[in-house]
Amino acid sequence: MLLPISLPTTITVKTKRRATSTPRATNTHKHRTTTFNSTLKSLCKWGNLDEALRLIQSSKPAPIEKEEQEEGLSLFLHACISRRSLEHGRKLHLHLLRSQSRVLENPTLKSKLITLYSVCGRVDEARLVFQIGHESPPEPVWVALAIGYSRNGFPHEALLLYRDMLSRCSKPGNFAFSMALKASSDSGNALVGRAIHAQIVKHDVGEADQVVNNALLGFYVEIGCFDEVLKMFEVMPRRNVVSWNTLIAGLAGQDRVPETLGAFRVMQGEGMGFSWITLTTVLPMCAQLTALHSGKEIHGQILKSRKNADVPLLNSLMDMYAKCGEIGYCEKVFDRMRSRDLTSWNTMLAGYSTNGQIHKALALFDEMIRSCIEPDEITFVALLSGCSHSGLRSEGQRLFTVMQDYGVKPSLEHYACLVDILGRSGKLDEALTVAENIPMRPSGSIWGSLLNSCRLHGNVPLAEIVAERLFEIEPNNPGNFVMLSNIYANAGMWEDVKRVRERMAMTGIKKDAGCSWIQMKHKIHIFVAGGSTDFRSSAEYIKIWNELSNAIKNLGYTANTSVVLHDINEDMKATWVCEHSERLAAVSALIHTGAGMPIRITKNLRVCVDCHSWMKAVSEVTGRLIVLRDTNRFHHFENGTCSCKDFW
Ligand SMILES: [Zn+2]
Ligand SMILES: [Zn+2]
Repeated sequence: MLLPISLPTTITVKTKRRATSTPRATNTHKHRTTTFNSTLKSLCKWGNLDEALRLIQSSKPAPIEKEEQEEGLSLFLHACISRRSLEHGRKLHLHLLRSQSRVLENPTLKSKLITLYSVCGRVDEARLVFQIGHESPPEPVWVALAIGYSRNGFPHEALLLYRDMLSRCSKPGNFAFSMALKASSDSGNALVGRAIHAQIVKHDVGEADQVVNNALLGFYVEIGCFDEVLKMFEVMPRRNVVSWNTLIAGLAGQDRVPETLGAFRVMQGEGMGFSWITLTTVLPMCAQLTALHSGKEIHGQILKSRKNADVPLLNSLMDMYAKCGEIGYCEKVFDRMRSRDLTSWNTMLAGYSTNGQIHKALALFDEMIRSCIEPDEITFVALLSGCSHSGLRSEGQRLFTVMQDYGVKPSLEHYACLVDILGRSGKLDEALTVAENIPMRPSGSIWGSLLNSCRLHGNVPLAEIVAERLFEIEPNNPGNFVMLSNIYANAGMWEDVKRVRERMAMTGIKKDAGCSWIQMKHKIHIFVAGGSTDFRSSAEYIKIWNELSNAIKNLGYTANTSVVLHDINEDMKATWVCEHSERLAAVSALIHTGAGMPIRITKNLRVCVDCHSWMKAVSEVTGRLIVLRDTNRFHHFENGTCSCKDFW
C-alpha cells in the first residue's frame, strides 16, 4: 500500500514513494537539486562566497525542493560563520527578506544566522533575527542567541534569556544547560550556576549527557570550588578527553603542580589518550618543576602520535626545555617548527637570555627583524634581561632606545631591566637616577635589583639608602633584610649585621626556608635547608660528603661563611652553609643517578656565594654538569666554572 500523502516523512520515505509514482520527474528534480547543492558546496569549501551567493540569488525556490534549498543555505551560512563574513550573511539575509522567503522559520537556519551575527559581534542584529516569526522559538534558537550574548561579553543577558525561555515553557535540554552554566561562571554567579545544577538533577529526561557533565565540571573549576570539581569528576558516569582536560586545567590554574602531573599520569594510565590542549596545559607544570624527565616523555608522546603538533603546543615544549636549562633541545624544536608565531620567537629569545647565551639571543633578534616579525614588549624584556645577566651595558642601553623605534613603550619591567643593567655594570649613580625618574611608581623589584648591585659592587652607603626605600615598599619581604645584612657582612660590619637581624626579629619577619628540588625518575624530591636529618646521617650521605669534601679541599675550596646571619662560631657557620638545600639535593642526585648524568636542581631562593663556589668545585671533581635554577636565573656549572661567570 502507498503511504498517505499528508504523512510527515523523512526524505528517504518521500523518495521511495516518488520512485513508485513518477520516477522520471524525480530523477530530473533530484539531479537539479544535487547539482545545485554540490556546486554550492564546492564554492563554499573554496571560500568563493560571492559566487555561492549569486547562485543562491539566481535560484528560484520552485525548481528545487525545500529541504534541498535549506540544506544549501545551511552550507552557505556555515561557510560564512567559519570565515566570519558579516557582509555575505547580511546580503543573504536581505535576499531572503526581499524574496519574502519563509525559510528563516526553519530553526536550524535561524540559529545559524543568529550565530553568524553574534560571531561578528553584531548581537543586536542577531536579536532581530531571533524576533522573526515564532511566538516561542524552539530551544536551539534560544540557545544560539544566548551563546551570542555570552560570547560578546553579556553573560548576564544570556541568563535573562534563559529565564525567558523557561517562562515561555520551553523545556531546557542539554545545550541550554551547558550554555547557562557557562554564562553563570562567566558572570561570576555561583548561586545561579548551582541552581542550574539542581535543575539538571531534577530534569526528567534522564541522566545528564557528557556535554552537560563537562559543563558542570567547567563551572565548578571556574568558580574555584575544587571540592565540587573532584566530587563531580568522581561521580561522572563517563569521562572523555574534555573532562580530563577540564580537571587538569583546573589543577594547573591553582598551581597544584604535582597534582596536575599526577592527574595526567592517571589519564594516561586509563588509556584515555590526550589532545594537544592536554599537553599544552601539562608542559608548563613540568617547566615550573624543572621536571625534564616528564617533559621529555610528553615530547616522546607527541612524536609517537605522528600528528603535526600545533604552534601553542610546540611553544610550551620549547619553554619547558628552556626552563629546564636544556637550551639545545629548545633550539631543535624551534628550528623544526613549520610555522612560528611571535610567542615562538619570544620563547627562544628568553631561553637564550636566561641560559646565559645573550649573543645567540641578539643574533636571533636580528633574524627576527629580517623576517619582518614585529617585536613586542616581551621580546625586549627577554633581550634586556639577557643583557643585564651578561653585563652587556652599552648593548642593553642601545636596545632600550631602539625599542621605542618599534613602537614599544617602556613599561616598569623594561625600566627594571635598565636599572639592573646599569647597576650590575657598576654605574650605580646612573642606575639610581633612572630608578628615581621612572614615570610610573617604581616597584620593589627595581629597588631590589639596585640593592643586589650594591652587594655586587660593595657599595654600603648607597645600599643603606636603597634598603630604606625597599623597607617602605615591601615591609614584609625577608629577602631585603637578608640582602642588606649580607652586604654588611661582606664589608665586615658585624655590628650592623646584628642591627639588621634584630630589626628583622622585632618586626617578626622570618627568612623563607631555603628549599630545593630535583626530579629522579617520576618523583620530585624536595630538600629543605637544615632538614632531611635522616638522609644527612645515613652512611651513603656521609661517605659521599666526606669524599667530596676532601676532593674539593684539594682544589682550594674553603667555606665562605659571611652569608650566615647568626652570631655563632666559625665551625658552626661552616656546618650551617653545608646544610643549604641545594647541597643536599646535589648529594642525593650524586648518590642516586648514574655517573656522567647531568644534575638539575631548582631552588626557591637566590643561591648563596658559598653554595655557588661549592657547586663549581663539585662539578669539577665529579665531572658532572650541574644546572641550578634559582629565582633569578640559571647557573650551568661545568668543569669548575659557572655560565654566569660569577656575576649574578
Ligand atoms: Zn647556600
Ligand atoms: Zn653561577
